[in-house]
Amino acid sequence: MQFKSYWHDTAPRFEKQSTAPLEGHYDVAVIGGGFTGLGAALQLAKAGAKVVVLEAGTVGSGASGRNGGHLNNGLAHSFISAKAELGVERAKALYRAFDDAVDTVERIVTEEAIDCNFRRAGKLKLASKPAHFEGIARNFEAVNREIDPDTALLTAADLKGEIGSSSFHGAILSKKSAMMHMGRYAVGLAEAAVRHGATIFENAAVTDRKVNGGRHELTTARGKLTADNVFLATGAYTPGIFSYFRRRIISVGSFIIATRPLSETEVAAAMPGNRTCVTSLNIGNYFRLAPDNRLIFGGRARFSATSDQRSDGKSGEILRAGLAEIFPHLAKVEIDYCWGGLVDMTKDRFPRAGYVDGLWYAMGYSGHGAQMATHMGMMIADAILGKADRNPVKDLAWPAVPGHFGKPWFLPLVGAYYKTLDRFQ
Ligand SMILES: Cc1cc2nc3c(=O)[nH]c(=O)nc-3n(C[C@H](O)[C@H](O)[C@H](O)COP(=O)(O)OP(=O)(O)OC[C@H]3O[C@@H](n4cnc5c(N)ncnc54)[C@H](O)[C@@H]3O)c2cc1C
Repeated sequence: MQFKSYWHDTAPRFEKQSTAPLEGHYDVAVIGGGFTGLGAALQLAKAGAKVVVLEAGTVGSGASGRNGGHLNNGLAHSFISAKAELGVERAKALYRAFDDAVDTVERIVTEEAIDCNFRRAGKLKLASKPAHFEGIARNFEAVNREIDPDTALLTAADLKGEIGSSSFHGAILSKKSAMMHMGRYAVGLAEAAVRHGATIFENAAVTDRKVNGGRHELTTARGKLTADNVFLATGAYTPGIFSYFRRRIISVGSFIIATRPLSETEVAAAMPGNRTCVTSLNIGNYFRLAPDNRLIFGGRARFSATSDQRSDGKSGEILRAGLAEIFPHLAKVEIDYCWGGLVDMTKDRFPRAGYVDGLWYAMGYSGHGAQMATHMGMMIADAILGKADRNPVKDLAWPAVPGHFGKPWFLPLVGAYYKTLDRFQ
């Protein structure tokens, strides 16, 4: 078994990074080379701005190259609870933004000819308990009537043609949802940004920012530059120097295992519907097939704030047990990959984007950023360019998490709470 992301291992290398000295002046400096930063850089470069991306590692080395590969439309919350928390208009705007985000990714894939197996697969949110199906059915009724007619409610009997497991009691099907190869998309998006004029520096962690006479001065591991605007696109990996964001983003580990490629018979027995699947438990699972028919099976597993080989391995064991429970016929299947990454959670699980403290930012997708990150990056790029502001979370209050200064010490407590909820609800 390899402790690395399947997406990283099976994508081509990005070869268009700048090797020039890191110096000079830019219209916009984007910090972070994930989907948010790369989407922004593409949009800015297409508009003729002089834009640089500063990435601490390599493009897609953060959550963008480590995720489950689900481009789901619909919200992280039930639509009913989103309406209660945000009000009807904002909840609808945010729901539509997720729809638009999948469209945005599809458009870029087509326009920039990115070879990444994009496919409108549809998503199943699977009820792990009978009571969960009642909640899903209530939410479906509101979603289908008010915002997304491209949805269907499936009973346990309907699921027979979708998934070879007796663990579920029904599902909501969101037909607009998609899937793709995340590593190939990350590299393709970076190449597109460079093709349109952006400069990308890898291994260029930003270690300091000063503002001098209206100009930002950025110090990086490879040199210094100045910029009129700075876009912070560092998600769950935001470093301590950006303390405003560290107090508001809760970085939570999420973990994934990938099996060996399944045979056609095994695919037909386990995932005949070939959709993205998410279970309804608080500490649940998400899974889908890879382009080469591996089962990519993830979950939060242990509510850990750390992703390294030891932590990923421990979580991998929990995930293997979860996989065997859902698909007993795959209990002994070989696991080829195990990896983890950090998810950029907010306390209320709604994303945040805008301008604060001299910085543009978009982050906090709370496990639903594989599509939204590109889209929000482009929206904030438009705001920088002075174009119409389409930001669906503009001016949404974002108080600091009390007692949180960067390391989420409270995660074990949250994990224990959700475990209890999952047992009794
Ligand atoms: C295991 C896992 C599974 C997930 N599954 C899904 C899923 O199936 N569907 C979904 O919608 N979402 C999923 N997500 C969430 C999704 O991947 C993220 O929301 C999205 O990729 C965020 O993109 P981003 O560009 O904002 O951040 P990232 O991709 O994390 O990029 C931030 C970048 O900033 C860089 N950086 C940090 N500090 C500095 C610095 N000082 N200087 C320069 N660069 C810096 C980092 O190296 C990193 O590359 C998952 C996340 C994880 C970890």
